[in-house]
Amino acid sequence: MNADLTQKMQAWRHHLHRMPELGYQEHRTAEFLAARLAGMGYAPVTGLGGTGLVARLQGQGLRPPIGLRADMDALPIPEETGLDYASVNPGVMHACGHDGHMAMLLGAAQALRHGPPPPGDVWFIFQPAEETGAGARRMIEDGLFRIAPVARVFGLHNWPDLPQGRFSACVGAQMAAVDQFDITVTGRGCHAAMPQSGQDALLAASQIHQMLQSVVARNIDPLESGVVSVTQIHGGTAYNVLPERVEMRGCTRSLSEATAQLIHDRMSAICASVAAGFGLRIDLERRRGYPVLNNTAEEVAIARAAAARALGPEAVDPAPRPSMASEDFAFMLQERPGCYAFLGTATGEGHRLHSPTYRFNDAILPMGAAWWMALAGGAEAPGSV
Ligand SMILES: [Zn+2]
Ligand SMILES: [Zn+2]
Repeated sequence: MNADLTQKMQAWRHHLHRMPELGYQEHRTAEFLAARLAGMGYAPVTGLGGTGLVARLQGQGLRPPIGLRADMDALPIPEETGLDYASVNPGVMHACGHDGHMAMLLGAAQALRHGPPPPGDVWFIFQPAEETGAGARRMIEDGLFRIAPVARVFGLHNWPDLPQGRFSACVGAQMAAVDQFDITVTGRGCHAAMPQSGQDALLAASQIHQMLQSVVARNIDPLESGVVSVTQIHGGTAYNVLPERVEMRGCTRSLSEATAQLIHDRMSAICASVAAGFGLRIDLERRRGYPVLNNTAEEVAIARAAAARALGPEAVDPAPRPSMASEDFAFMLQERPGCYAFLGTATGEGHRLHSPTYRFNDAILPMGAAWWMALAGGAEAPGSV
């Protein structure tokens, strides 16, 4: 990776970091990307899935087209990094490193443009609204794979839980399915001095909260993975009133559809049994989030081989582990075989993704770009990072 391009990617990244935009509002981000791509000689197709865009690099037709995807959106977090290129958009921050993802893919687009044509077409996919807006699904619905008829798709996330430069990708589940739930406990409000005259929704809610933790502990195979997290309980307005209604909210995670369904079934049974036991009404509403992100074996092998060429064989994680976080690239992997990978960023500073102090590690910019180039079959030689 030449030093000029590394500097350029850093400058792009810092520029994007300064102007973060939330999902489906990435108008200036899309303009910036389209202008850079056009300047390199690409003809980007914009407005795909709202603010998404794609650009094609023509190959030699020796291999089916591949898609390389970066996400574009930021988070509703007030930045507290103190960086001189910190967000100027109040309350919005690139705290998940999508600025870095865009810079790495732009860097690869530029370098590949200057090299010999790759063996097959390469489509650069810049996707909006990863964080909660399912931008991947919207791009697909908007014709992504008709416009960019790729045979395989690849994605990359910077990963602070892995050491800098470590490349990690699992066969099968790489990231979890997420569902949200709302539980409404409706009892009968009354004077706190006369509980016999009402039905205590708070007491029922506290039972539910504890019983929900038995689902993972006692219903799921210990060798499977699941999480049930109650993240909100709202009820009550006074010291001397038992409230009529309590709202509970949270999310569940799993690495298989069967586990997701088992969790939901057990939650339903618990809510029904507490309702019967306490003589009150409990409604459980489930909202499906992103599905399990499943990598396909052949594409994981391709991704790992590319990482070994670009970063050295020692960079490839020999024992990759999935994450219980979720990612909407899962929708693309329901349409095409592919691989989503993590690239380690940790240097000991310990900043967490989605935290107001998160700092993307610029040292991985040339590494990520080199991996993209190796995947595209570009001229990147082993060990030249
Ligand atoms: Zn994120
Ligand atoms: Zn992210």
